[in-house]
Amino acid sequence: MTRKLVLCDCMGSQSPDAKVISSASGMTCSRIYTSLCLDQIDDAAREMAEDEVIIACQQERPRFEALAAELGIPEPGFVDLRDRAGWGEGPAAPKMAALAAEAVLPLEMGRALDVVSEGTCLILGGSAAVEAAAQLCDTLAVTVLLDDAALVPEDRRFDCVLGQLRQASGALGAFEVKIDALQQLVPGGRGGFDFTAPQDGALSECDIILDLTGGTPLFPAPEKREGYLRADPSHAPSVARAVFEAAHLVGTFEKPLHIRLETSLCAHSRAEQPACSNCLNVCPTGAITSAGEHVAVDPMICAGCGSCSAVCPSGAISYDAPP
Ligand code: SF4
Ligand code: SF4
Repeated sequence: MTRKLVLCDCMGSQSPDAKVISSASGMTCSRIYTSLCLDQIDDAAREMAEDEVIIACQQERPRFEALAAELGIPEPGFVDLRDRAGWGEGPAAPKMAALAAEAVLPLEMGRALDVVSEGTCLILGGSAAVEAAAQLCDTLAVTVLLDDAALVPEDRRFDCVLGQLRQASGALGAFEVKIDALQQLVPGGRGGFDFTAPQDGALSECDIILDLTGGTPLFPAPEKREGYLRADPSHAPSVARAVFEAAHLVGTFEKPLHIRLETSLCAHSRAEQPACSNCLNVCPTGAITSAGEHVAVDPMICAGCGSCSAVCPSGAISYDAPP
């Protein structure tokens, strides 16, 4: 399929320059329609069926989305050239070209991202964590975070550190943790282990977190956080399953992108006055954050439940159901 930008001058109210837009975005442009959402809706259907298209209209987006559903084809992309450039002051062509180039990016990325896990694994807990580390250390690069020096084993096939996990963020392949009172083992010497002086706020990264503390989960909706595995340390079958799953989290994985966010439509805040927070309130995974006048969605944390799109009053967030 060819990738194409479908242009419309909205009843002659603007003048898109197909040549300039095409050269900036690298996309083929359609001829310039004048009433794509009404009299020329059959042309829109044909364009959508023939090619992978971005339609240069946001206002009538629901109409084209419904058309795609009716035709049983993937929804097109959208970019608002009219309100953001065509009806503004000054030369419209460079603005339209920039907007079109920006709109190509999500398509370039496809509807999935590659997530790379090299197998660095942080295991949290007590004696169950040490046992899990012994099982996983031939497959993963394991570090165990303990809070009791007496639990540090003689086994040197994996690393052990002392400390308390203060904070964790991220997902498979890109976790970041902050550890208080971190003490690293000092190799060598006779007798018991020596440790470095405690350090608060130490930062580290890992690809996988195996949580065998039996305590409060580190993340909201923990079962939806890819790369985060947890099990009750007193329940051996659960621990065995979590260890098995952790061992298979090495390599390159495809992360589907479920959500499209059109920030220009988001009514999160205006003139520093908070307005809509519907999607933030319903997102179970914490994937949505405030980013000034609009929100931002972390695709690595989004679990694709679609709740945000269901409560968005402006259509700023739309949901691509998994195929
Ligand atoms: S689909 Fe929306 S509500 Fe659901 S996890 Fe993703 S961002 Fe959050
Ligand atoms: S629900 Fe829609 S309009 Fe409201 S903050 Fe979220 S994206 Fe913006």
